[in-house]
Amino acid sequence: MIGTPGVPAPLAAAIEALASLPGIGPKTAMRLVLHLLQRPASEAGNLADILHGLHARIGFCDRCGGFADQGRCPICTQPGRDPGVVCVVEQPVDVLMMERGGVFRGVYHVLHGRLSPVDGVGPEQLRIRALDARLAQGVKELILATSATVDGEATAHYLAQRYRTRADTISRIARGVPEGGELEYLDEYTLQRALDQRVPWQ
Ligand SMILES: [Zn+2]
Repeated sequence: MIGTPGVPAPLAAAIEALASLPGIGPKTAMRLVLHLLQRPASEAGNLADILHGLHARIGFCDRCGGFADQGRCPICTQPGRDPGVVCVVEQPVDVLMMERGGVFRGVYHVLHGRLSPVDGVGPEQLRIRALDARLAQGVKELILATSATVDGEATAHYLAQRYRTRADTISRIARGVPEGGELEYLDEYTLQRALDQRVPWQ
């Protein structure tokens, strides 16, 4: 779009920047940019400020590893959550997906990856020591919600072996999750069903 005849460069640049985002094609990008142009300049400025501060303001919860804007995330500090039920996921985005269902009342532990010997990712590269520490404080149920990929399954297997004697119950989310499925791409109903129908680890 940059260099397109008849389109002023700043307009083309804004369209191109938005069109580079996932799920936004050039037409939608143009609609968004034209919308912003029609609104007061303060609205675009506000949006720019929010985006500008995004990386600086969002970090990871020092307990679960999910997204947080300060030490602890809103889930770890939410009253009524059961800290004895820990759902283990691969990525911070998985927590957001699980929470969309709005039913789970336990807490999370984000590994920040999954075991992948081919890519040189072993237990030391994941947040497993932090999980050890949480298990040491007593966990009633450890729910393994790693992806249904080969590496995700291997990670679940590794964790089930590691914590066999340390958690009262270990379960795996059900096969509502399709083979090769990343949690991120599942709708909340599929994910909720997979969680509800979780099976005890044998
Ligand atoms: Zn947290």
